[in-house]
Amino acid sequence: MHEKCGVVGISTADRDVARPLYYSLYALQHRGQESAGIVTHDGFQQYEHVEMGLVGDVFDESDLDSLNGSNGIGHVRYPTSGSVNNCCAQPFSVSFKSGSLGLAHNGNLINTGEIREELAALGHAFTSDGDTEVIAHDLARNLLEEDLVRAVKRTMSRIHGSYSLTITHDETVLGVRDPQGNRPLCIGELDDGYVLASESAAIDTLDGDLVRDVRPGELVVLHDDGSGFDTYQLVETEQTAHCFFEHVYFARPDSVIDDELVYEVRRDLGGALWEESGIETDVVMPVPDSGRAFASGYADAAPDGVDFAEGLMKNRYVGRTFIMPTQDERERAVRLKLNPIKSTVEGKTVTVIDDSIVRGTTSSQLVELLYEAGAEEVHVRIGAPPIVAPCYMGIDMASRDELIAADRSVEEIRDEIQADSLSYLSIEAIADALGTSDSDLCLGCVTGEYPYDIEGEQTDREVTRPAVGHSSADD
Ligand code: AMP
Repeated sequence: MHEKCGVVGISTADRDVARPLYYSLYALQHRGQESAGIVTHDGFQQYEHVEMGLVGDVFDESDLDSLNGSNGIGHVRYPTSGSVNNCCAQPFSVSFKSGSLGLAHNGNLINTGEIREELAALGHAFTSDGDTEVIAHDLARNLLEEDLVRAVKRTMSRIHGSYSLTITHDETVLGVRDPQGNRPLCIGELDDGYVLASESAAIDTLDGDLVRDVRPGELVVLHDDGSGFDTYQLVETEQTAHCFFEHVYFARPDSVIDDELVYEVRRDLGGALWEESGIETDVVMPVPDSGRAFASGYADAAPDGVDFAEGLMKNRYVGRTFIMPTQDERERAVRLKLNPIKSTVEGKTVTVIDDSIVRGTTSSQLVELLYEAGAEEVHVRIGAPPIVAPCYMGIDMASRDELIAADRSVEEIRDEIQADSLSYLSIEAIADALGTSDSDLCLGCVTGEYPYDIEGEQTDREVTRPAVGHSSADD
């Protein structure tokens, strides 16, 4: 089950935590629109409210009033494969002999099948096919034998893949980031407590301050009384696998991820796009909203400046096109979503800038729309390399046979979308803008080589799945 999601965890001194959790889930709504949930604990008992739908629809005043306690976690979810139903809405919660657990997961594991089989043979009953329940059961089992930190360490030694987790163990809130740091997770300070969140925009919403990112392989345990947090580097990492696509598309531009403001990264990528493939045209315009920062960086990088215009208007009430399950609906949705402003396009040569091409639906519709509005030439510039392979780590990228670049050259794609010219950004430019080396990024979707051991796919480094079998964390 691939999951692109948002997670949060908060411990406060003695304030009810349900509302700050609710506000931060609102701030993370872009990371998942299918379900939302909160789990809290008041020192005596665990409370939960998890439902299908948007944050604003899932919770009403009385739901928030019933979520007692000053410690808790929350989750927003959009599944990228599997059926749309409420089996996998999160946080997942479970009560067992030594307490109760709530678990919220962003990412995707590679080896849950093996762990699930092993735990099922030991009598664990599973109610969903999701990864999160497997992590929860594994942790619950370890907690019967070991303290919290050792139990988390043991679970981390067994699971392979991408995970940013927020967890409640009774009143204690914890955050864990996988050893490759694939998905983001950061720590923030509030007036009366601490917060863990997928993105710093959630911390801003609570009027808090970003402290730092959770380090790859690190466990953060918030103090139950909101007074601070302890950290444990449970797994040492030599090489990270940060998802570059968080910076390109998925995260909010106002979030800081791994020390970089996403907006500035996107502007830098736009600048690099000009350096690599800038072309003089009458006007440059972004595809709203995803192309905006790229287009402003691109226009600023042009030596004499270029005429920048908002030539495409967006209907903000149309959901992301990806929510439409069929190609026909997706095409209609693009037209519903975007409409050109004729006067900025008519009789002009136009460069249109977007962050990425996945199936090619948006760009081919756009080129057609711009010609219909009277454009003389339409040039397309894309702020990411061609997406040639699926994402197994939590972002909905469609399957290989749906990806327009999976088996086509750039020239063939240009021909397919009917643009006058088409250029993508290089992988080197991405690594440069992120101030890192490409070997510390997960580039699976643009190279077809992954930082994890995925069946039937190639790896870009030496990775081995942990052997399943219930070993001790000290082994
Ligand atoms: P497509 O129309 O299939 O080529 O998708 C490209 C458009 O969808 C671009 O405007 C992107 O901003 C946006 N996009 C890229 N990745 C995703 C994703 N994982 N989910 C939803 N939209 C996306």
